[in-house]
Amino acid sequence: MTSSAIQVIEVAPRDGLQNEKTLIATADKVELVLRSVAAGARRIEAVSFVNAARVPQMADAGDVMAILRGEGDLRAQGVSLIGLVLNRRGFDRALEADVDEANFVVVASETFNRRNQGVSIADTMAQIADTAGLAKHEGLTFGVTIGASFGCPFEGEVAEAQVAALAREAAAMGVSEIALADTIGVADPMAVERRIALVKAAAPGVSIRCHFHNTRNTGLANAYAAWRAGASALDTSVGGIGGCPFAPAATGNIPTEDTVYMFERMGIRTGYDLPTLIDTAGWLQGVLGGKALPGMLAKAGLFPAAEIAART
Ligand code: ZN
Repeated sequence: MTSSAIQVIEVAPRDGLQNEKTLIATADKVELVLRSVAAGARRIEAVSFVNAARVPQMADAGDVMAILRGEGDLRAQGVSLIGLVLNRRGFDRALEADVDEANFVVVASETFNRRNQGVSIADTMAQIADTAGLAKHEGLTFGVTIGASFGCPFEGEVAEAQVAALAREAAAMGVSEIALADTIGVADPMAVERRIALVKAAAPGVSIRCHFHNTRNTGLANAYAAWRAGASALDTSVGGIGGCPFAPAATGNIPTEDTVYMFERMGIRTGYDLPTLIDTAGWLQGVLGGKALPGMLAKAGLFPAAEIAART
C-alpha cells in the first residue's frame, strides 16, 4: 500500500554546494538551511565532516553547525540536522558539532569506495559497526547511505545482491534508515522498485530513503517509483544543484521544488510551501552568481497558481 505522504530531505547545503568551485560564505550556507526550514524542510543534510583538503566547500562545517545551534531552537521546531560522514573521524566531529543525525556512507563498488573514502568496503563497514553503538549511546539517529547503488562510474553495473548484502549488514548493526543513492544518475524506475523490494526483505523494519541525481533525466520517474515501492524519504536539493566531486560528470540532485510540485499535484503531502521554495531557488541562484539552475518549476511557475498556493 502506498503512503499518502513523502518526507523530502533537503540536501542542497551539503550535496548541492559541495561541487561548487567558488567557496560559498558560511553565512550563506546558514541562510540556505534557515530558508529551507521556512519552506517546510524538517530534515536537512546541513553539512559533511570530510577531509577539507578534498572537499574545500565543507571546511567550515563546524562553524555552520555552531551558528545554526545559536539560531533559536531548531529542535523545538522539529527540525533535524544531518551530518554526512565517511569514517570514524568524521563521526566524532559530527558528534562534537551536535548534529541530530549522522549519515554514514559506504559505496557499493570497491573501486569507488576506495576513491571516495580511501579504504575498502570491509573497512568502512567495520567503522560503521563501531560507530553504530556509539551513536545509540549518544542518542543520535544513525543512518547509512549505500552510494552507487545503481551503478558505478569505475566498475559499471552494481549487482542487486551486493546492495542487499550491505543493507543486511547495516540493519544487523542497528541503523534506523538505509538510503539507496544513485550517485551518478543511472537508475531507472524498475531498478528502483527491485532494489527497494530486496532491501526491504534484507533489512525488515528499517526505513528506506532514496537519493537520486538527475544526470540522465530519470530522477523524478525514479522518485515516483521509490514512493510507490515504499521508500519513506527522498533526498532533493533546491534548484537541483549538486553532484559528487569524485564521480566524473556528476550533476545535481532532483530539485526540491520540482519533486514537491509533482507529489503535491498527486495529493501526496510533503509539508512544504511551494512559493517559499521557489523564492529560495531564486535566492540561491543569486548566491551562485546568477547561473541557470536545473530546476524547472521556478522557470515555469506554479499551476494552477492560486489553488496550490492556498493548499500548501
Ligand atoms: Zn549525491
